[in-house]
Amino acid sequence: MHYYSTNNKKLHVDFKEATIKGQPLDKGLFFPAQIPQLKKDFINNIELLSKEDIAFEVIKPYVGNTIPDVDLKKIVSQTINFDFPLVGVTDSISSLELFHGPTLAFKDVGARFMSRCLSYFFKDANQKITVLVATSGDTGGAVAAAFFEVENVEVVILYPSGKVSSIQELQLTTLGKNIRAVEVDGSFDDCQRMVKQSFADKELNEQLFLTSANSINVARWLPQQFYYFFAWQQWQDKKVLPVIAVPSGNFGNICAGLLACHSGLPVQHFIAACNANDAVPDFFETEIYRAKQTVSTLSNAMDVGDPSNFIRVLELFNHDVESLKKMVTPYSIGDDETKQTIEELYSRQAYLPDPHGAVAYAALKDWLQFHPHLKGYFLETAHPVKFYDVVEPIIGKKIGLPSTIQMMLGKRNESVKMGANAELLKDYLLAGMKE
Ligand SMILES: *Cc1c(COP(=O)(O)O)cnc(C)c1O
Repeated sequence: MHYYSTNNKKLHVDFKEATIKGQPLDKGLFFPAQIPQLKKDFINNIELLSKEDIAFEVIKPYVGNTIPDVDLKKIVSQTINFDFPLVGVTDSISSLELFHGPTLAFKDVGARFMSRCLSYFFKDANQKITVLVATSGDTGGAVAAAFFEVENVEVVILYPSGKVSSIQELQLTTLGKNIRAVEVDGSFDDCQRMVKQSFADKELNEQLFLTSANSINVARWLPQQFYYFFAWQQWQDKKVLPVIAVPSGNFGNICAGLLACHSGLPVQHFIAACNANDAVPDFFETEIYRAKQTVSTLSNAMDVGDPSNFIRVLELFNHDVESLKKMVTPYSIGDDETKQTIEELYSRQAYLPDPHGAVAYAALKDWLQFHPHLKGYFLETAHPVKFYDVVEPIIGKKIGLPSTIQMMLGKRNESVKMGANAELLKDYLLAGMKE
């Protein structure tokens, strides 16, 4: 299997190169040259398989011979060592809970897989790889947890002082070991500028192997297919195929689902559930893609005005908008409806969704009203406690902190403070090498 660039079909790199590089120099995205076809047996007898077997079968063709089977099996089982339950919510709607991992959100899956692939690729190198990230909150936590104690990899995370939530700060700063947090006296933009300048610094790149843990990396994107198969394994009535609603921001998650579907996963229909950031719903209406200004909403992980993975969706459908429309219906759900949905689900079904899951539920419920013989599930992408400030006032109750967060409360903040200056970061990175 090789990957080309969405800007250049002639480019030809394997999984290892695509993972280490992250993005082609031409600013396109890496895309698999073939879509693997899964055997009928695999789909029809999926109940007989373990989660590990399923994930291995799905990812193997994409990895090719860049990681031997024994090592890939280890990576896969470490990636998915938590539950992915499909929970009934109403007669026709279930919730695929993707928040049972270490940072309580679905991004754990992609981040854990990527960290272990990088570790494998650098096991015989004469230097470690350094992952450098700027975060305004959540991404940093998922990356820190995913890379913690992973060998051959150092992680340096920059965050703006006083501008991340206290839970997020705990997630970034208390791990220690190979995770170093830098508290920057400046804004998120300052952090990003310092990171960008480091990637462009010739001397630094001669001494260190720097990479970003970007969300468009194929090693973060492709393993997101796993849980769509885990849902199929748990799907009760296999004669009525599921309608799947995906809360969408950058469109990586739904694109992984669509890819799984092209490989043979049985799906009735997909719903791309967006908040007020409606660049994709607009595209479906006008067939002209226009990036938009990002607007802030309650489901802030989906506040994306120009979704970078949407180009992969188009590529998957060979840019044929008619066939895309047959498989996918987009929705844009506003904050008022999101709040109402959280209230309604909690009071009537005793189910508490987070704001992202609520957007997807609202869209799915609407679609099913026009297709009453069908059933579906939505992806519950985060634990509601991560958005307690939104959820608690709506339900008028406090949500208990999960044990993963409680464990961090007494731990020491190990971050270092730094001025908003790329030269200071450079000195810090170079000094870290000599230790
Ligand atoms: C990142 C994120 C999303 C959006 O996923 P994309 O792959 O960017 O579409 C949805 N919900 C939560 C909780 C997220 O963190």
